[in-house]
Amino acid sequence: MVIVMQEGATDAQIQHVIDRLVGSGFNVHRSTGESHTVLGAVGVHRDFDHRDFELLDGVREVMRVTQPFKLASRQFNPQGTIINLGRGVTIGGNEVVVAAGPCSVESREQIHIIAESVAKSGAKILRAGAFKPRTSPYAFQGMGEKGLEFMREAAEKFALFSVSEVMDASQIQMMIGYVDILQVGARNMQNYHLLRALGEVRKPILLKRGMSATMEELLLSAEYILAGGNPDVILCERGIRTFETYTRNTFDIAAIPVIKKLSHLPMIGDPSHGTGRRDKVAPMARAAVAAGADGLLIEVHNDPDHALSDGAQSLDPGQFEQLMGELRIIAPAIGRRVA
Ligand code: PEP
Ligand code: MN
Repeated sequence: MVIVMQEGATDAQIQHVIDRLVGSGFNVHRSTGESHTVLGAVGVHRDFDHRDFELLDGVREVMRVTQPFKLASRQFNPQGTIINLGRGVTIGGNEVVVAAGPCSVESREQIHIIAESVAKSGAKILRAGAFKPRTSPYAFQGMGEKGLEFMREAAEKFALFSVSEVMDASQIQMMIGYVDILQVGARNMQNYHLLRALGEVRKPILLKRGMSATMEELLLSAEYILAGGNPDVILCERGIRTFETYTRNTFDIAAIPVIKKLSHLPMIGDPSHGTGRRDKVAPMARAAVAAGADGLLIEVHNDPDHALSDGAQSLDPGQFEQLMGELRIIAPAIGRRVA
């Protein structure tokens, strides 16, 4: 942390700041220039609020030098984390892995039809929700455990891995019997009780960015899971809420290269929730891969116009097949590949 004192700060004010820093366990280096005194505070402090120092008399500015997240930072694992799902499928390696499927499991038949088609097109992971965080309490809330049962059958039949959203810590034990990856939705990104519980799980966690969360907040949420002992966290950009209304959310593609630089964790993109419009999903998916995403989460439905949730942003199987072909052309341009 660097503290710049105001021009004309008195010796007593400067000494008071130094005493506070030393009292908090910092080593302090003082440099006195022509008009300003600058204090460099060095030390390892996880639980520290630099704003406390901004309020001290004579202080002009306080700048943090280190990141508040440690285990999630790129320095912790400079080569990058590769999550091994098994059967040769990894996330964070050379291959761009695609998870595809409906927003919600709706029936055994529906999830089987979709699993078969996305597997044929090259998806490695089946996505579908059984517990749905819907804005309206009157909207379809998901099939619950029965949906997970149908999903597991379909994923096994077509050799897919599976990911589904966990909404509450009480669902974790039941869900790990059905899915390979647990998803934390945008609305739960800062449910710290849930994040802590997922730190104890031995399955990868797909952590979505909250709709008004900064990248730093996303990384601090990942830190909760990592600090709890689970090293396998996949981050996901799924669009943030802005003043723009044409799209459902604003898909923040810049978050992909920024987070990849700040963190060693794999980062994927969800252009379906990112745009909310079927006709905008493919362009944003292509852009996310070009920007360096380690994977994609794409909503696909066999009958999107009659889907029980998020039909407007769901691709039909033909559109998904075409997109996968395009991604196979784009990925090699940046030294990667798509199955
Ligand atoms: C979903 O993946 O269907 C979902 C609800 O996503 P999000 O949490 O990003 O809104
Ligand atoms: Mn959805």
